Amino acid sequence: MRPFVGGIGAILTLHHVRPRRPDAFQPNQLLEITPRFLGKVVRKLRRRQLDLISLDEMHRRLTEGDFKRRFVCVTIDDGYRDTLQWAYPILKAHEVPFAVYIPTSFPDRIGELWWLALEAVVARNHRIRLLIDDRERGFECATLDEKHHVFDQLYQWVRSFRTEDELRRVVRDLSERYQVDIAAFCEELCMSWEELGRLAEDPLVTIGAHTVNHVMLAKTPERQARAEMAMSRSVIEASLGLKPDHLSYPIGDATSAGPREFRIAAELGFKTAVTTRPGVLFPEHGAHLTALPRISLNGEFQQPRYLGVLLSGAATAMWTGFRRVDAA
Ligand SMILES: [Zn+2]
Repeated sequence: MRPFVGGIGAILTLHHVRPRRPDAFQPNQLLEITPRFLGKVVRKLRRRQLDLISLDEMHRRLTEGDFKRRFVCVTIDDGYRDTLQWAYPILKAHEVPFAVYIPTSFPDRIGELWWLALEAVVARNHRIRLLIDDRERGFECATLDEKHHVFDQLYQWVRSFRTEDELRRVVRDLSERYQVDIAAFCEELCMSWEELGRLAEDPLVTIGAHTVNHVMLAKTPERQARAEMAMSRSVIEASLGLKPDHLSYPIGDATSAGPREFRIAAELGFKTAVTTRPGVLFPEHGAHLTALPRISLNGEFQQPRYLGVLLSGAATAMWTGFRRVDAA
């Protein structure tokens, strides 16, 4: 019988865990799964011959070459309040260690969840106008189809910018023009330092860094990228009294984190750093601890049978051209 997890193990990525919401327009839905689905995933993993382990234990196995048993690490990005409300009770009930990566501007209540601001602008308006390359352009977004289309266009457009500053400027302008309060998403959706502190008390929980401002590091100058990583660790240490050893690169694809970021994370002394490049782990990753791939649980495919396909490494091997380590 083929092993359930390919390679030596895998790291799972989660964002939101919460019950389905009734809104028809939810373009960011792939970033959320239901508590029910998470419960099924955990029970399925528990039934298999594999270990559910912390990032520290994964680091030990990778550095010591201890690959006797396959493993899965659960990681949750961004520190949404639903992590505490919905994910934590399920993971706790099954004694599953997990990591939460915090962009410190979110609990500091000055973060910009720009993808949600973009969603809100499109959701609340029938048409929007904005400057693209110095030309004023209009977009019809009255119907659900139009909203999805316009959101996809806008999202791809801002993601194509060369710098993070440019992206922020456009989203701020749009939010101002259409009266969307970007900072309000932090208060509404993200854990406070007090809530994070409660979570951090549990030995099952590892608190990791996720930069200060949730920036695509590769789109910032080197000094800024380094400061984002180092500062987020210092702020977490000052606020929670623990120094994070693990980092997650925001957005985390090849346009957001590359060889320069992998080097800086190692220089700063992070034990591991994770991308969102898809893939399972191999022994070779022991030499690339700050460029680790992950498997995202996608909200659009919430069926346990997909989990086996993802964790087998078969699907991700196709996406990555069968390279075992993608650290370039
Ligand atoms: Zn994130």
